[in-house]
Amino acid sequence: MALLTLNNVEVVYDGVFLAVKGVSIEVPDKGLVALLGANGAGKSTILKSVSGLLAPERGLVTRGQIAFEGTDILALDPPDRVRKGIVHVLEGRRVFEHLTPGENLLAATSMHRDRARVARLIDQMFTFFPRLAERSRAKAGYLSGGEQQMLAIARALMTEPKLLLLDEPSLGLAPFLVDEIFDIISRINAEQGVAVLLVEQNALAALDVVQSAYLLEQGRIVMSGSAEVLRSNPDIQEAYLGGG
Ligand code: ATP
Repeated sequence: MALLTLNNVEVVYDGVFLAVKGVSIEVPDKGLVALLGANGAGKSTILKSVSGLLAPERGLVTRGQIAFEGTDILALDPPDRVRKGIVHVLEGRRVFEHLTPGENLLAATSMHRDRARVARLIDQMFTFFPRLAERSRAKAGYLSGGEQQMLAIARALMTEPKLLLLDEPSLGLAPFLVDEIFDIISRINAEQGVAVLLVEQNALAALDVVQSAYLLEQGRIVMSGSAEVLRSNPDIQEAYLGGG
C-alpha cells in the first residue's frame, strides 16, 4: 500500500475555477517523488490539498479521495494531518525573521511537552544542517536564502513527519546551493526514511534525486514514470530540460 494516494482529485477555486482536474498520484512509503510542471499548472494546489492548507472559503477539493496510510484524510483539519505525519514546507522560506535558528526550531514544537526530546531533536537538526549550527546566533532574517530554506525544512522535520511536502525548495537559490538543497532532500529521504513529495520547476535537478515523477499541465497529469524514463523522454527534454 502506498503511503499517500490521491485518487481522481479535483480542486476548485472560488466555486468556478477548476485548478486540478482529476489527478491521481501515489507516494510510496519512504518514496521520493516529484511533481513537475510550469507556473500555474496546479502543483502548489495539489500539495495544499494534501496538507489541508487550501485557502479557506476559496479552494475546495470537490471530487476524489486523498488517503494517507489507507485512511481518507479529507475531513481532517491541518493540525490533525500534521499529527498523522504530514508536514508542508510552503513556497518562499517562511521563517520567523526575528528569531534565531534554534528559536525557530523551538517554535515548531508546541505540541511536544517532553523537553529532553525537543532538545534532542534540535541537536539532531544542527547536526544534520551544520550551516545552521554555524549561524546559530544570527536572527533568521540575516541568513542567506539557502540557509533560510534549510531552516524551513529543519523546522518541518521537528514534527518527525512520515511525509514531507516541499514546494519549490530551489526557488531563487544560487546553483551551488540548489545542489546542496537537493543533496539534503535525498539524505532526509534515505537516512531518516521520510517520504517526500517535491514540487519543482527545476526539473533537471529534481529528476537527479527522485525515484519517480509526475508532469502536470493545466491541472492534469500528462506524463508519469520513473525518473530515468522521464529524463530520457524527448518531449520532457525539449520543454523542461533545455533541449536534448
Ligand atoms: P506556481 O509555481 O506558480 O505556484 P503551481 O503549478 O504551483 O504554480 P498553483 O499555485 O497551484 O500552480 O495554481 C494553479 C492555478 O490556480 C493558477 O491558475 C492559480 O492562479 C490558481 N490559484 C492558486 N491559488 C488560488 C487562490 N487562492 N484563489 C484562486 N485561484 C488560485
